[in-house]
Amino acid sequence: MSKTIKPTQIDKCNGCELCVLESQRQLKKVGLEESLIRVFRKKSSNQQKIEFELEIDPRINVLDIEKIVSICPRNVLEILEENTEND
Ligand code: SF4
Repeated sequence: MSKTIKPTQIDKCNGCELCVLESQRQLKKVGLEESLIRVFRKKSSNQQKIEFELEIDPRINVLDIEKIVSICPRNVLEILEENTEND
């Protein structure tokens, strides 16, 4: 089993990108290039509501994912265990 981050409450996401910045900080990277987390603004049928989508690279588990999850102000993220072929 390996641990990974899932955006289990994505409807609460405000697009602040703190999760992205924290993952980049841990990789010692500046800016958003090659980030293991990406935040996209989703086109919603309801024009009043802005929704976001997260794309999380499976390599995220090389980082301190507890720290990334705890930095999210909206509790969007959760750590889940994932079955991998190597287990
Ligand atoms: S830190 Fe949380 S609220 Fe901010 S973009 Fe990431 S998932 Fe969304």
